[in-house]
Amino acid sequence: MSLDPLILRSMIATAAERLIASADELTSLDQAIGDGDHGVNMKRGCEQVLAELDAIAAKPTAEALKAVGMALVMKVGGASGPLYGSLFMGMGKKLGERPATMELLPEVFAAGVEAVAARGKSTAGEKTMLDVLTAVLKTMRSDERIRAEPLREAAVLGATSTIPMRATKGRASYLGERSVGHMDPGARSSQILIEALSTYLESRP
Ligand code: ADP
Ligand code: MG
Repeated sequence: MSLDPLILRSMIATAAERLIASADELTSLDQAIGDGDHGVNMKRGCEQVLAELDAIAAKPTAEALKAVGMALVMKVGGASGPLYGSLFMGMGKKLGERPATMELLPEVFAAGVEAVAARGKSTAGEKTMLDVLTAVLKTMRSDERIRAEPLREAAVLGATSTIPMRATKGRASYLGERSVGHMDPGARSSQILIEALSTYLESRP
């Protein structure tokens, strides 16, 4: 069983459109502690996903996840392209041919987050997207029933938690102490992604 193509289409479109709409904000965050391209990078990748949307949504869920990942790897560029690519490809690989059910979500999402950590040689606490992704994963695992609001809150807290951190991975790490006091752009884009997807990720009582 795959996700209903209409739901899958709507999920992907919502997330991509939200990230595209946030490009300026992501750019300013990256201007503060990076090279200022995160907004443009994400916008380019998301526009590619939207261009392939019909073909992607028609695929079985695992293949659709891998196709989103591939589009992001090919088009986002920078450090974040391969990392977001790993997130979606890791999820697709873990799901495989099994039915895309809510019960499998924590396991499948965990595989995506692990793929990011492996690709980035990074872990939570280093002022990256992983501070949001691992916080969301922890929340997903902590409750029998997955609810949108706690996922959204975990993502917000994860993104905010990067502000006082000193970056030890990625371009921001070149700034050392000067990276402190700014939200990590990749953490913010991950938070936007979770925010856009959270209502779809809620399991029924
Ligand atoms: P670049 O840093 O190459 O300009 P982007 O600006 O698109 O690429 O993305 C930067 C974001 O990528 C950072 O804010 C951070 O969240 C994430 N990032 C960078 N390196 C790593 C890493 N090793 N592990 C996890 N996330 C990383
Ligand atoms: Mg950058």
